[in-house]
Amino acid sequence: MAAVAAVLALAAVALLRPADASALTGKQPIVVVLCKFKDKTDEPQSASYYQNMFSETGVNSGGVFDYWRDVSYSQLDLTGTIVKGWYELTQTRAEWNALTRNQKIDTCATQADADVDFTKFAGVVVLTNQVNLQEDLFGGCCGFLINGTVYNIGAMDSEWDQQYNGILHESGHLFRFNHSRTLSQQTNQDDYGDQWDVMSCLGCFGTTTTFGRNTTTGAGPGVNVVQMDTAGWVAANRKLTDFSTSSCNQRTVQLAALNHPEASGYLDAQIPASIFIQKIGTSTTTDHYSLELREKSGWDAGIPQHAVLVHLHGQDNYSYLVDQSGLAGTYYTANFSNDMAAGDAYVDAPRKAYVAVNSISGAAHQATLTIGACKIDTATSGVGPASGDFGDTVTLTADLKVNGSNAPIPAQTVALTLGTQSCNARTDTAGHGTCQITLNQHSGSYTLTASFATVPVYNSSNASAGFTINKEDTQLAYTGATTSDYHDAFTASARLTEPDGPVAGKTVTFELGTGDTCSATTNGSGDASCSIVPTQAAGASTIKASFAGDDDYKLSNASKAFTITREQTTTAYTGPTVVLQGASGVTLKGRLLEDGVTPIAGRTLTLKVGSQSCTGTTASDGVATCKVTFTGALGSASLSAAFAGDAFYLPSSDTAKTATVFSFPSRGAFVLGDRTVATATAATTVTWWADTWAARNALSGGTAPSSFKGFAGTVPLPTSTPPAACGGRWTTGPGNSPPPTSGVPSYMGV
Ligand SMILES: [Zn+2]
Repeated sequence: MAAVAAVLALAAVALLRPADASALTGKQPIVVVLCKFKDKTDEPQSASYYQNMFSETGVNSGGVFDYWRDVSYSQLDLTGTIVKGWYELTQTRAEWNALTRNQKIDTCATQADADVDFTKFAGVVVLTNQVNLQEDLFGGCCGFLINGTVYNIGAMDSEWDQQYNGILHESGHLFRFNHSRTLSQQTNQDDYGDQWDVMSCLGCFGTTTTFGRNTTTGAGPGVNVVQMDTAGWVAANRKLTDFSTSSCNQRTVQLAALNHPEASGYLDAQIPASIFIQKIGTSTTTDHYSLELREKSGWDAGIPQHAVLVHLHGQDNYSYLVDQSGLAGTYYTANFSNDMAAGDAYVDAPRKAYVAVNSISGAAHQATLTIGACKIDTATSGVGPASGDFGDTVTLTADLKVNGSNAPIPAQTVALTLGTQSCNARTDTAGHGTCQITLNQHSGSYTLTASFATVPVYNSSNASAGFTINKEDTQLAYTGATTSDYHDAFTASARLTEPDGPVAGKTVTFELGTGDTCSATTNGSGDASCSIVPTQAAGASTIKASFAGDDDYKLSNASKAFTITREQTTTAYTGPTVVLQGASGVTLKGRLLEDGVTPIAGRTLTLKVGSQSCTGTTASDGVATCKVTFTGALGSASLSAAFAGDAFYLPSSDTAKTATVFSFPSRGAFVLGDRTVATATAATTVTWWADTWAARNALSGGTAPSSFKGFAGTVPLPTSTPPAACGGRWTTGPGNSPPPTSGVPSYMGV
């Protein structure tokens, strides 16, 4: 690791203890002396290259002149810096490397003594033509022997292609800068470890450069604000020095980035802190914390992020980076580091130092910081929204700020509680937190509370606001049948939804027209269905679905046009098909059914024989009868039963049957044997008048007298259809004694 190797090289730098710093301002020209060796005489760059690297002739090219101009806010001015050489030494490289550090400064600088009045310069820089880290690297101040004279100036030595921030570092020593330190003990040494300070380089966060080695990471960073303050570069009005920890108080302030002093705000916010520090070879007691903002740009472009850093100022004028939690206080940072971003905090409770970073803006080059002598008070506000619908997912919000300030508190958790529901909101960089809940409580009035619980750097706070849970809108769509026959069951169905989906477990009531209803419960898809049998007259109607609403949902309805159609019927003629002409009449009969099964009562059937008709009303068995006295011709006559239909039922009729109309002779009657009739078919010829009647007719009562020829002179005959009575007894004389009628009807009853 190059950095480690470089640090080891630097570890030997203790040439001279730097003098106590006084204001390091004004023109501080230096002399750069270039030396080569008896056995290595190359001149890797011309003198003008080094002139541009160190002096104003190379302004704005990222040279040493620019570096100190920038980090000193133009107070350390290297204008007038000159370069001398290359001088060839009388020593070989080996002989040179064996010299002490003071001898090296003396040996090389003496080469320029005739050309330079060292009393007019702040220091001398010795550069050799060695490469690959073969040259020693050191710097210091003040008092160096050159060619027999001690000059009260600084000095440094480096090879020309040393890593550039190694050269910057040693030039810092030349200008009386101390090493930067960390509060933790560095291995085997008191110094180094502050990666945000050039006076800990080479182990620091470097950025790009055109000079020296490691051109991608070899330049920068700047110096920390304790170092700057020691150099006298921080104006009094850019330092917050009056914060007292003697009583509980807090202050929210702006910090300007150290590399953007044109931004408004403090460069150095100080909190009193007396901390004894024991190092290997030294000890000190601090007098204050210094808080600074470092922006990842310019010479600080190599730092990990924009950051607020915590240093301690030692009474020894050393800077001490608080580099680990637990050494003085504790860092509460998102990435467990000591460079604090927005939302991070540092707490040293024993010293009553509370530091919270509220925001950092790279664009504005500023940070908002709250410092406290006790836990910092917070304020919760912006609790909302004021209402939501049952079942809806609502985004709850709250804002967390430093009490009495607009400074946001990022990266904290605010619990938002509504009735029995709650969620945790994480505040963003604006201190704004949101989280979501799906409202599952009944409609009504509630309180929404935002609660921030105390954390090491902040006190708790809370706020609340009224919240109304509204009933959720519902929508009902009728999805069932839109027509049905009277008396035929149909399925009514509907789907109940809310804006986010189906609503299950709710009762939907259906009504067809007036009075025909059913109700059902919605399933997981929001569908409800049940069966209705229309009992209303055929015609245009309306089917209506209704959800009455409840604690959670608003009511909704749906309706659709519905057509009730007439029920199908069947009418059958069921009366007699053999009809006695005239006499006291024939009773006609018909039956009316729906769907071929169910009797229909109370309807009028028109029953007809031949051209004569009558009407009857159906009874509960669907049967209607009526009577006519048939006066038409004997023989065949049409029969029919007809239902004309009505508001409920379709018409139907039966004309399939035909009647046979007969009559009896003018007196008496011809007869047949009962057994002969019983076995006769339509094709059977029977004998109702003959002297052999007795032989041609079979009777259940035995053989008829042989003198009986088939005519009964006196016999009771039916007078209606169907007959009112049957089977009376009769007698008649034998042979021709009851002489038969002279003629008979064409269709005759026997
Ligand atoms: Zn050093």
